[in-house]
Amino acid sequence: MRPLTRLSPILAAACLAACAQTGSAPERAAVAPPQISQATLTTVTQILSSDAYEGRAPTTPGEEKTVRLIADRFEKAGLQPGNNGSWHQNVPLVETTATPTALRITGGKAPLTLNYRTDMVANSYQVQPRVSLDNSDVVFVGYGINAPERGWNDYAGVDVRGKTVIILVNDPDYETQGLQGTFGGRAMTYYGRWTYKYEEAARQGAAAALIVHDEVPAAYPWGVVTSSWTGPQYNMDDPNNHMDQSKIIGWVTNDAARRLLANAGQDLGTLTAAAKRPGFKAVPLGTRASVSLTQKIKRQASRNVIGILPGTTRPNEYVIYTAHWDHLGRCDPDPDGDDICNGALDNATGTAGLIALAEAHVRAGRPERSIIFLAVTAEESGLLGSRFYGENPVYPLAQTVGGVNMDGLNIIGNTRDLVVVGPGKSELEDYFKRAA
Ligand SMILES: [Zn+2]
Repeated sequence: MRPLTRLSPILAAACLAACAQTGSAPERAAVAPPQISQATLTTVTQILSSDAYEGRAPTTPGEEKTVRLIADRFEKAGLQPGNNGSWHQNVPLVETTATPTALRITGGKAPLTLNYRTDMVANSYQVQPRVSLDNSDVVFVGYGINAPERGWNDYAGVDVRGKTVIILVNDPDYETQGLQGTFGGRAMTYYGRWTYKYEEAARQGAAAALIVHDEVPAAYPWGVVTSSWTGPQYNMDDPNNHMDQSKIIGWVTNDAARRLLANAGQDLGTLTAAAKRPGFKAVPLGTRASVSLTQKIKRQASRNVIGILPGTTRPNEYVIYTAHWDHLGRCDPDPDGDDICNGALDNATGTAGLIALAEAHVRAGRPERSIIFLAVTAEESGLLGSRFYGENPVYPLAQTVGGVNMDGLNIIGNTRDLVVVGPGKSELEDYFKRAA
């Protein structure tokens, strides 16, 4: 049993589907979980994270190899093509590669220059060959959250149209130990994610939105920011070229934010503490920001890979397993000149888990409900493959009764406890309680 007990998250996930397919009555006997192949997990993880796959960036030769391998393994496992006879769902992407200038701040104690990569990174959602921000007033907007249902609005009483907003990462109560609080305590809400911060800044009409990086609340170091925010960026291809978005989106290091605020006579620590308190008011800094960038633009489709194991008695109800197949591709070279971000854990393991689950479910026999196996693209660019499937579902979402996503499998060995992040949002957690 050792190989199985080492893979408790997969087992838990497998149990979710196994339990789900037999109905929800708690007194029903649990179905034995399908047997997971450790060989599949190991082999697929090794292949996908090998240098030959070049870090699996969307629309690269690494994508070709990756989607072919997943479809091959789905077919060998005994799945059927999941998209009307095809293993693929095309996801139209636009690729932009920006070359930004430094960020210049004027109107403070002294002119301040924040350099690209070491102090800040900048991109644009707007698909334009050249984007320019000129002397835009800078405003500190705390966590940049407008959540009327929680009685919180960091933009209350301030007009940021055409301005540059400085935003803290995560949400105001992330340092709380428990899960109580306006923003779910230490659990991160959607308001804490960078995608939300930029969406809200655009809704408020901000011309630029810069998030202050901090290793603890962001949960990753600055190097991850530079790896993922420089080089080619992917977004949904949009007929309006995302002109409703802010001109500039980016990140500044904690140190750069400190200097930017000190330059305006403010203190990052003091403002951060204020931003955690209800009733926080945004602080205009009295300084102005300028930065511009040129962009190379390429439009190209990437692919989600999709297979299905049709159900027996309830084939029009679906349980969906997902894992993103993409990773960061080529990154800054390390001291040995290696520039491939291999992404073994994130998310070759999850993709291998998806394939292993497909094999195990086929071996276990067809379930009552249909099971969908969906390997999504461009997660690292803002969950684009998932979003595209959500907006263009092959199977009706109303009949999709449960879903399990795998983003990195357990590589640390035996575990005893499990944590549900964002409890109360899904009845699937009742199955977890029984399995725990
Ligand atoms: Zn991931």
